[in-house]
Amino acid sequence: MTALLNVRNLGVVYPDGGRRLRALDGIELALEAGEALGIVGESGSGKSTLARAILKLIAPTTGAIEWLGRDIAAFTAADLTRLRRDLTVVFQDPVASLDPRLSVADSIAEPLIVHAPALTAPQRSRRIDAMLEQVGLGSGYGARYPHELSGGQCQRVAIARAMITGPKLVVCDEPFSALDVSVQAQIVNLFAELRRETGTALLVISHNLALVRHLCSRVMVLYLGRVMEIAPAEDAFGAPLHPYTRLLLDAVPRLGHPPLALEAGESASPFEPPSGCVFRTRCRHAIGRCAVERPPLAAAGSTRAVACLRAGEGVARAARAG
Ligand code: ADP
Ligand code: MG
Repeated sequence: MTALLNVRNLGVVYPDGGRRLRALDGIELALEAGEALGIVGESGSGKSTLARAILKLIAPTTGAIEWLGRDIAAFTAADLTRLRRDLTVVFQDPVASLDPRLSVADSIAEPLIVHAPALTAPQRSRRIDAMLEQVGLGSGYGARYPHELSGGQCQRVAIARAMITGPKLVVCDEPFSALDVSVQAQIVNLFAELRRETGTALLVISHNLALVRHLCSRVMVLYLGRVMEIAPAEDAFGAPLHPYTRLLLDAVPRLGHPPLALEAGESASPFEPPSGCVFRTRCRHAIGRCAVERPPLAAAGSTRAVACLRAGEGVARAARAG
């Protein structure tokens, strides 16, 4: 079966004041229908750039993105309209992503008017009311305006807007980070429910590993625009193979433990990424070879892959003391 989405050797370079910033380098990814994949990594690792390329908001510098087996760069206007119906997005800031002049119902109606023009007004209203119920707001919210709603309620409206066309994939870029902690959990549960009910696939970008773990069956770890590790969520979080995954896990605050400082401090510069393994300047397991050889993303068993020359030695296994 063809994957829903294939990212092939994707590279994105931004021109930045005369310099070139390689935001993504050689990304490979296949997403199956109905799958929930998390993308994690520190700020600047290229997560939003990957989302923008998949949504065809920016063009790849190298490589390709295929939707149902076809390169989206070659899509016709009609293909693109279908893509906007089947591949939708939820952004970080729910308040900014809604038009303040539109009522909740009008906001959710917009994509329906484009993608289901044959619906009569009453049919459209019924769909919108049902969607409002599905996202836990109730049809009474249709007449309200964004400024009357909380952040969590606005995010529910944004999710309703993204779901109303019956998409095959919803890309969510930091959908929780603008919300209060208690509301984050509610939104995670809402996504999980919608997935069960509709079978839609999710691509969830988040720096919150706990939320990703809860929602996603697989996780891809990015650092400086490269894939460090991709694995079933329980393996990546339970038994990471890449020292960078380990570092991300160790940085998660745990009850009764102060969060550990990120090892070797800051991320390296994206303008001058380290030779060989880009993570080596922060890695306590780095050896001479790591500065010379770029580690390939190599299969580790049948379900995971890791880009670390020393992954086979189990260097990422042990949690750090402290
Ligand atoms: P993330 O979402 O993981 O924080 P981004 O994809 O936003 O990462 O950014 C990846 C890198 O690309 C960062 O170094 C960022 O500064 C840079 N970048 C992002 N957008 C642009 C842009 N429009 N022009 C130049 N550089 C950019
Ligand atoms: Mg981002």
